[in-house]
Amino acid sequence: MSRSIYSGPVFEMARQQFVRVADHLQIHEMDRDRLLYPKRAIAVSCPIHRDDGRTEVFQGYRVQHHLTLGPTKGGTRFAPSVDIGEVAALAIWMSWKCALAGLPYGGAKGGITVDPYKLSPRELEALSRRYMQEMIPFVGPHTDVMAPDMGTNEQVMAWFMDTYSMYQGQTVNEIVTGKPISAGGTLGRREATGRGVAYLVGRALEHLGIPAGDATAIIQGFGNVGSIAAYSLAERGVKIIGVSDHTAAYYDPAALDVAELKGHITRCGQLAGFSSQSLIEPSELLVQKCDILVPAAIERVITGENATHLKCRILAEGANGPTTPEADSILHERGDEIFVLPDILCNAGGVIVSYFEWVQDLQRLFWEEAEVFDRLYRILERSFQQTITRARRERIPHRMAAMAIGVNVVQSAKRTRGLFP
Ligand code: GLU
Repeated sequence: MSRSIYSGPVFEMARQQFVRVADHLQIHEMDRDRLLYPKRAIAVSCPIHRDDGRTEVFQGYRVQHHLTLGPTKGGTRFAPSVDIGEVAALAIWMSWKCALAGLPYGGAKGGITVDPYKLSPRELEALSRRYMQEMIPFVGPHTDVMAPDMGTNEQVMAWFMDTYSMYQGQTVNEIVTGKPISAGGTLGRREATGRGVAYLVGRALEHLGIPAGDATAIIQGFGNVGSIAAYSLAERGVKIIGVSDHTAAYYDPAALDVAELKGHITRCGQLAGFSSQSLIEPSELLVQKCDILVPAAIERVITGENATHLKCRILAEGANGPTTPEADSILHERGDEIFVLPDILCNAGGVIVSYFEWVQDLQRLFWEEAEVFDRLYRILERSFQQTITRARRERIPHRMAAMAIGVNVVQSAKRTRGLFP
């Protein structure tokens, strides 16, 4: 492809990763653009009334990567960094993630360029509803199913569902996932990504012969993914020695008190103010010695600069795209030193349970929590086994193995179906 609307560092990252995998799989040049470039991209202007009486317009996007396996699926992000390139990269990653987990979806992602923490609750509701309203012609339970991502939550999903339903004249629970239970959500969705991260870390520890009770963890990002990953790892006996969010970073090699952390987050909603003693520079946190490092915040935090200095045994990618291709090459050169749980495997718990939510909504039949987690762990176990087996067999990094499995699934579906999807 000579020119496209997709650009920027995050899109470039998704493209480079794909090229590496396509080279490894010897995918013909002719087939590459069709696998990489999104099928559809939608850009919308979302005007809302601000509380001070002004009208302001926010830019919103939705990228649907491919339609080959079923509807598209993926989160909606409210963040100042959002642009079409970032959203496209995240949609592409969703495709490989869903394919690796065996879900009948293509990838999608959406977002609004906004700092949601600078909006009042009324403004946030107005913007969420307006965004969904603009998207109504392009989404549907069998077309494209949204979910939460950075800066959005269950309440935003409830507003999305309600706005779509008002338009249809009936309740359509299955239009979005990650909803509150009272709006047709599933048990376990809120905890799914974090608990999935902890499950896979547990498997990696077993693989390396490290008892969970002897292990230490540092978690970057304390939103829905990072916080639940921290609590679940602590329940497994892992010592949490470092945490950070956009307000503060804390590190104590002797262990942080997780019960106190939980209490503080419940009271204040952010890490700032947790303790005055264990404060650390956020960029320093990533390179402290630990067994498990969990980047669970934003993209491109493990880079060509700091990858040489990581002192962890397991890198568990709770975030999407935390590791740049330069960092990947360095980690690969470091050989077996660091066991990478790549994002499309490590954080797949969220979309897997979103799939369960969609299935339950379509069937109007709801499962018990034990069933949700039992099925989740079975899928994660299969993906974990497939990834490490393929990596070993082909002598390739875990990320390349996981992506190769995902890309192969999409590629063979495209081959059997033809050019349309
Ligand atoms: N936003 C999440 C992700 O990046 C969840 C997507 C979903 O549940 O559809 O995987």
